Amino acid sequence: MNIDLHNHTKLCNHAIGECYEYVESAIKNGINIFGFACHAPMEFDKKYRMSVNEIDSYIYEIRALGEKYRDKISVKVGFEVDYIYKKEYLIEKKVLESDVDYLIGSVHFLNNWGFDNEEFLSEYNKIDINDAWKQYLQSIIAMAESRLFDIVGHFDLFKIFNNKPSFSLQKDIYNTLEAIKDNDMVLEINTAGIRKPICEIYPSRDILELAYKLEIPITFSSDAHSPSQVGFKKDFAISLAKDIGFKEVVSFSLHKREVYKI
Ligand SMILES: [Zn+2]
Ligand SMILES: [Zn+2]
Repeated sequence: MNIDLHNHTKLCNHAIGECYEYVESAIKNGINIFGFACHAPMEFDKKYRMSVNEIDSYIYEIRALGEKYRDKISVKVGFEVDYIYKKEYLIEKKVLESDVDYLIGSVHFLNNWGFDNEEFLSEYNKIDINDAWKQYLQSIIAMAESRLFDIVGHFDLFKIFNNKPSFSLQKDIYNTLEAIKDNDMVLEINTAGIRKPICEIYPSRDILELAYKLEIPITFSSDAHSPSQVGFKKDFAISLAKDIGFKEVVSFSLHKREVYKI
């Protein structure tokens, strides 16, 4: 089963293309289950996300597309929701209560710093990379413990600009994966990192191996911000997962897990 659950729409103002073009690209790429998970509205960093009053039309439009293409592909709708440590109050209730198939929880911010945004690269010179990594993983643990989300977005995003810690994070990573397991979340294998300066899949192979040992379920995503990125490096992601030992991949309908053979 070919699954790609994390894709954007132009509603977030930094993705391009029409929704139907994403779906047609997915069909062309042999994807069986395709999901939109655009950046959820929030009273924070509003430039890069849809607004609260677009929630209903977003869900309606994707559901209508799903109907239109139902003979060729299964279309899902979700949100990618920002989780900012100790700022859970920023998350829109309407997003959490919406009739979507799944919610991806993602950490893109340490305090107010959007660390994956090239606009704010100079901030890396002002911080201690080791401390920032710890803070990043602590945010993922808190996100898992919030139990608000179904999927962990790009688990090791903080590596995006190649800022590696000076010591092994293995223990911290293990603790973070344990929190994901204990709180019953699914890990996405997200190929977007291969398009970024780090040139690596999220999460790295060693992290996926630990996740496999902990029996954490996985799903796949290309994190496409244009129709041409749909299914990006999917064959690589699938063979990596199989090579590690994963045999199953997860999708969701209204937060209910559906498990398929990879
Ligand atoms: Zn985005
Ligand atoms: Zn993201």
